[in-house]
Amino acid sequence: MKSVSILGATGSIGQSTIDLIARDPDAYRVVALTGGRNVRQLAADAQRLGAEIAVAAHDDAFGELSTLLAGSGIEVAAGRAALVEAAARPADWVMSAIVGSAGLEPGLEALKQGKTLALANKESLVCAGRLLLETATAHGATILPVDSEHSAIFQALVGEEMASVERVIITASGGAFRDWPMDRLRTATLAEASCHPNWAMGQRITIDSASLFNKAMEVIEAHEFFGLQASQIEVVIHPESLIHSLVGFADGALMAHIGPPDMRHAIGYALNWPQRQHLPVERLDLARIATMTFRSPDEARHPALRLAREVMEAGGLSGAVFNGAKEHALDAFIEGRIGFLDMATVVEAVLERLSGEDLGAASMDLETVLHADTSARREADEAINRLRLRAHA
Ligand code: NAD
Ligand code: MG
Repeated sequence: MKSVSILGATGSIGQSTIDLIARDPDAYRVVALTGGRNVRQLAADAQRLGAEIAVAAHDDAFGELSTLLAGSGIEVAAGRAALVEAAARPADWVMSAIVGSAGLEPGLEALKQGKTLALANKESLVCAGRLLLETATAHGATILPVDSEHSAIFQALVGEEMASVERVIITASGGAFRDWPMDRLRTATLAEASCHPNWAMGQRITIDSASLFNKAMEVIEAHEFFGLQASQIEVVIHPESLIHSLVGFADGALMAHIGPPDMRHAIGYALNWPQRQHLPVERLDLARIATMTFRSPDEARHPALRLAREVMEAGGLSGAVFNGAKEHALDAFIEGRIGFLDMATVVEAVLERLSGEDLGAASMDLETVLHADTSARREADEAINRLRLRAHA
């Protein structure tokens, strides 16, 4: 029986993970489930799966969670420290599916158990890829990618040598605004940016898909996780979202991973790795699909991909700065404080402002990463205020 914990259990990835685990209850023992504001969902899942402990990320949720789980025998805790402690509980397999840099520290704690971390939280790789990989090595832990593109690359690499890899091609759906003209993008609303054409995901990653910031993060994620040079990573728009990514080898061969746009595939692969087991995902009928299309991304519309290359060149803590600024700009867009295209303007301004801080050479531990994250959010706030002043002038 495999013991599992799910960090961010109430989110989109967390719920898909629970869907797979709940289909085979005899195969799993659930240790910790953690959630944010959706305390009812957290309590219901903890009951259903017979979790050892349920943890809400915010202190003020303790009362409600305790009431909901009274008499169940399930331990209850709340707050940041409790969340980090829950991540450190021994479990064979931990799903890291908290959104944002808030997922970094719990992920690091889970790695210190020396077991397997299924990593959906791409922000932690972007902020602190080196720290994450070094922690895994130091504790004999395994990181398995769950982002669909990286799972695809990982699967295409089975039995291959990295030395024979020439390039990877990361596919992108193009997001909600794939076919919109530039001037319409300027006034794109939150509701419009929150609808993905192919994937059902959390709101933040859905908006990041429309701005291509999600793809920019994934390029950095591939650079960090697979140790690829920026020049080896290409992005292609593939509106059907059926090929999840490709690996190009020295002999010119391309290995593609093809499947329906259903995250249970990548999650299930990580859950069953190194084996493959039956998964409840649609089987593709290629004759019915008939065509798959591809085109180059338009970087003039979406500066995020160019910024990702700058971040990879600078290295060090610039990923943490990029991610912190992006998260803060995204918050401002969600709150209606800035427009859709302003997000990239803010991130670029922060990268420029903090580029003098020798981010590339700085040593990387949790403290320095969180410091870079905080500085980036502060600079982003100033950039947002400057933009708003200009808009009102
Ligand atoms: P989501 O918003 O649906 O869920 C996020 C989870 O994190 C929830 O359980 C929420 O309660 C919790 N959470 C939010 N803020 C928190 C905080 N400050 N502290 C602790 N917990 C907090 O997000 P999602 O779409 O499931 O994405 C989760 C992660 O997986 C993200 O890093 C995302 O980029 C990545 N990812 C998601 C998908 C997808 O299909 N949804 C695909 C690839 C990668
Ligand atoms: Mg992805």
